[in-house]
Amino acid sequence: MNKIKKINQIDLRGKRVLIRVDFNVPINGNEISSDFRLKASMKTIKYCIKEKSKIIIMSHLGRPKSNESNLSLHPIYLYLKKYFDKNNVIFSKDCISKKSINISKNLNPTEIHLLENLRFHSGELNNSETFAFKLSQHAEIYINDAFGTSHRSHASNSSILNFFKKKCFGFLMDKEFNCLTNLKLNKKFGIILGGAKVSTKLGMINHFIDKADSIFIGGGMSFTFLKSMNKKIGNSLFEKKMLGIAKDTLEKSISSKTKIFLPEDFVCSKEISSSSNIEEKSINDFAQDDIGLDIGSKTIDLFLNEIKSLEKIIWNGPMGFFEIDLYKNGTAKLAEFISNLSSNNKLTSIIGGGDTVSAIIELGLSNNFTHISTGGGASLKLLSGEKLELVQSWGNND
Ligand code: AMP
Repeated sequence: MNKIKKINQIDLRGKRVLIRVDFNVPINGNEISSDFRLKASMKTIKYCIKEKSKIIIMSHLGRPKSNESNLSLHPIYLYLKKYFDKNNVIFSKDCISKKSINISKNLNPTEIHLLENLRFHSGELNNSETFAFKLSQHAEIYINDAFGTSHRSHASNSSILNFFKKKCFGFLMDKEFNCLTNLKLNKKFGIILGGAKVSTKLGMINHFIDKADSIFIGGGMSFTFLKSMNKKIGNSLFEKKMLGIAKDTLEKSISSKTKIFLPEDFVCSKEISSSSNIEEKSINDFAQDDIGLDIGSKTIDLFLNEIKSLEKIIWNGPMGFFEIDLYKNGTAKLAEFISNLSSNNKLTSIIGGGDTVSAIIELGLSNNFTHISTGGGASLKLLSGEKLELVQSWGNND
């Protein structure tokens, strides 16, 4: 990581720069439903404009099998035209065609050339050298600002490094790494975990046991822990193969400095639907056909009361099935409480994970947290103390 140059350590003036960004945003028809990830890379693009660079931008979008028109980056081209000077933005329908490479070679300073979805070519996911070489023909300098894909080795972030002498991280990458790796653990500090799967968050639990003061477990994943304690969880979701590990983790926490908080009550329904009846139930009162779909009010109080005494919090995963309004209260209450403390500088708050971020954006609270990560899988990996693939490729390449 130390070896990787920062953007301001390279002379970009008047040069052609190829920026790998993560513009994998939700698009409905032609409408971008959240521009959170687009805005996150703007600092880097604006800096290149200030340096009078000729700017080529590349990204993937979704998981296309081939050339799927609904996964075109064209709506992002329209967005960039509105955001910047509309005469300064050009779009190419193929990211490696001769035509597109010629456009890049003939760009004027401060012009922006957006390339079509990288994943329209199989070479991207296959980390193909040939594909990466063609991409590299666009520019003289390579900038990576796509944190969301840094836990993957693809052509545009891995093989491509072989073809550039001058390469660096953008501002977003720098910020993500700073916030997610330089955690000062001397502060009173807690982790909130939610969502459906224990398996994806286990690395983080193991990494922080005996480091964090508290770990709060909500969402569907809490049922795996509760079932491992022989609680009756009705028809709620759980991961059978994780029961042993969940039990071991709870036992490990007893002799550690970390206290694990599990929900005491839930919002239950008999089926998952926006028209279901809901009822709050203690975990000791679950009927066989109850499904726990959100944390209950006693649990919210328990969690908030403890969070109040912390100085730093990392949150990954919703507290319930928040996509349905009936089950989003727990996530919303936590988000409001943490955003309040955070905007009054009483708590440092770091949010990771696509679902938690979507919930916070939907609640209109995204400006109040210390850092909202643009990468779900990448942030989880980094917060689990693991090295990201991108950093390894970069290390091998220097
Ligand atoms: P994950 O990918 O493991 O972070 O899971 C995120 C998903 O977990 C979201 O789509 C939530 O709707 C879902 N989820 C959270 N709590 C529950 C629950 N109690 N029951 C079922 N699904 C849940």
